[in-house]
Amino acid sequence: MKTNLSDVEALLICPVCSQTIIRTKGHFFCKKCNHHYPTVQSIPILISSKDRHKTREAAYHSSISDIYRRLHHMAAYRNYHFHKLSLKPILKLKKRSIILELGCGIGYDAITLLKKGHLVVETDISPGQVQEARKQIGKKGLGRQALFYIADAENIPFANESFNASFIVASLHHLENPLRAIQEMKRCTKYGGSIIIAMEPNRYEWILVFRFVFSFIKQIIMHTPGKRFFQKVIERADRYREPTIERTFSKGEILLLAKQAGLSAVEIKGIWFFCGFIHWFLTMLNKLSTKNWTIRTDIEALFVHLDDVLARFPILNNFACHWTIQCTNTQCKKEIG
Ligand SMILES: [Zn+2]
Repeated sequence: MKTNLSDVEALLICPVCSQTIIRTKGHFFCKKCNHHYPTVQSIPILISSKDRHKTREAAYHSSISDIYRRLHHMAAYRNYHFHKLSLKPILKLKKRSIILELGCGIGYDAITLLKKGHLVVETDISPGQVQEARKQIGKKGLGRQALFYIADAENIPFANESFNASFIVASLHHLENPLRAIQEMKRCTKYGGSIIIAMEPNRYEWILVFRFVFSFIKQIIMHTPGKRFFQKVIERADRYREPTIERTFSKGEILLLAKQAGLSAVEIKGIWFFCGFIHWFLTMLNKLSTKNWTIRTDIEALFVHLDDVLARFPILNNFACHWTIQCTNTQCKKEIG
């Protein structure tokens, strides 16, 4: 039987009491606890927590939603290639599979899945980002396959086993309780479905050496006539500093999180080696100016393929900038970690 978006919307639950949410004339409320949920530009805000960290995260990401695409080089080949690679297990599912995304941002990954014919539920705690996702997806003419909710990844407003697969890209490290979010993904995904945690920053201790060298250089410059110029540069870069948590995960830590949530990890990929440094450098330039700094696509493609090769060597793999981990919510013979 063909699944429609209205069938998916019927699976919404109240984030306060977990009972079914009723929708009448665009108004969302819970019959059991009588909680009414407001909307912003007709997108429901299905959040029960007024946590300070979550409020700040939401406000920061809303404030950059219109420049997010430029700031994070979303049009770059390295992003296209590795995001698509990360989502491969979901792209292989049959058409009109129902997919949940947490921390959807501006809808970049959903567009790839929608083009494959899937139905995607886009959720993010930031109203600005969800509005931008709806705008970007609408521009591609894919709006009829997607639903949009302002929701908390640690308290997903959907019934158990609502989705064929769920995923989160480069957002888990923003959360206060990443384990809780993975447990929620497991709860909302059908038994045997894929759960993908993609592009999460690797913890590599030698980055501390760079930080030490940078702070040493900073101390020296602060005692020279170049002090005022340097201060201005730092202030510009700080405009886009994440407001709260900047978490990283070692390979062991991210595998352990999946295990603790009751998932079987079937594959872990190291993502970005040279591309990570290119991205970091160009992002810094983008933050310091209003330009979109890029490198030639053919040169970038060389580094992308080099990174693909490096990821195949087990020891080098540990130096990747990010991890993508593919899990299932069943006991699996191929389990790793
Ligand atoms: Zn309720």
